[in-house]
Amino acid sequence: MSAGFGKIATGLQGIKSIEDFDLKDQRVFIRCDFNVPTEGPVGQVKITDDTRIRAALPTIRYAMDKGAKLILASHFGRPEKKEDRALYSLEPVADRLGELLEAEVILIEEPTSDAPKALLPGLRPKQVLLLENLRFEEGETKNSVEFANIMASYTDVYINDAFGASHRAHASIDALARAVAKRGCGYLIKKEIENLGRLTSQPATPFLAILGGAKVSDKIKVIENLMDSVDGFLIGGAMAYTFLHAKGISVGRSKFEKDKVSFAKELIERVAARGKKLLLPVDHVVADDFLAPTRIETTSTAEIAADRLALDIGPKTAELYRKEIARAKTVFWNGPMGVFERSEFAKGSFAVAEALAQLSQDGGLAVVGGGDSASAAEASGFAPQMSHISTGGGASLEYLEGAKLPGLEALRVLRESVTPKL
Ligand code: ADP
Ligand code: MG
Repeated sequence: MSAGFGKIATGLQGIKSIEDFDLKDQRVFIRCDFNVPTEGPVGQVKITDDTRIRAALPTIRYAMDKGAKLILASHFGRPEKKEDRALYSLEPVADRLGELLEAEVILIEEPTSDAPKALLPGLRPKQVLLLENLRFEEGETKNSVEFANIMASYTDVYINDAFGASHRAHASIDALARAVAKRGCGYLIKKEIENLGRLTSQPATPFLAILGGAKVSDKIKVIENLMDSVDGFLIGGAMAYTFLHAKGISVGRSKFEKDKVSFAKELIERVAARGKKLLLPVDHVVADDFLAPTRIETTSTAEIAADRLALDIGPKTAELYRKEIARAKTVFWNGPMGVFERSEFAKGSFAVAEALAQLSQDGGLAVVGGGDSASAAEASGFAPQMSHISTGGGASLEYLEGAKLPGLEALRVLRESVTPKL
């Protein structure tokens, strides 16, 4: 039986949900995560994946149905200077949201102007306000109490549903929540914490972690935190080559981290000492060049020739991992098995995605965390059959690492008397 994660005992404890408040005619501020991927130049910016917008709909629709006067807000990208405004405007989000909600989304250029206060009382049922990209305001990333208090001045109920932004103590996530007595979470945060929580408290066993992606160094904390609760690790992606190198297997020109080889060695020993599995690729898809490969081959063993670099796990490895996943009850996947952005190197990640969909259909729990892993799951076509794909990226990893998320902490009202007065 697994001990779970020592450091997490908090979850949604002391956090109210949107359903705990009477929203009728109340000015309800919903902090969403509309930080969607886009492409195209200024004026023609197109949303390439609206998953995050759709994920926010249940909470927004609930508030609309209850007759709330709605203010929606989000950050978007990392605008650095004034000239970035056109590229990082939430206008495309307002358009898409309007279509999905079948409502009029009124974009407020300046969240610090009188506009929100003036417009809110007169909002009609099929109208909502959307504040322009919060990161246009200097106070947002600085967690400015002054900026938060301006937003609080037109907020009766504050709802955080921006799971993907909750690992950052920014004004709309932290200071604003603390400035509003009536505060709680929306359905997306609830779903995320409930599903991630199923991994952290007594997960059904066998429990496997599939880890891949670009770097071992990004995943060290997750590995440390999972070490006691999982029954095994399946390793892929570029991080596999650091482990293979640590075992004395030649990795050719594959990406690996020299300064993490000793960590990898130690980890292999610690996992073995606990009687757990750590599986590494037994074959690879290799190429002669990263940017312009002219020869793409599959190796017959784990060894990689000196003039080749590995860009995906091979078919034998995919089959081995599929069998392991089929025997598990709980699986957490973070980090693609290869450079899935290119179809030649996507097979390994898609095979894992298919196996996770099958596990979910068979009654197991499959949770995907990490931005690129979520994209790989979506691209595979198997996403709809999987138990849970976190919209969180960094936030889901930090949660599993045992970190307290500022966005959750700011919502907690363990005793009414601890509500800070600003
Ligand atoms: P996540 O966002 O899910 O946490 P990461 O950011 O850690 O995942 O890793 C994703 C990146 O790792 C992808 O862009 C992918 O192309 C890259 N990657 C995976 N395998 C390899 C490899 N063998 N060589 C180089 N890059 C790789
Ligand atoms: Mg990533």
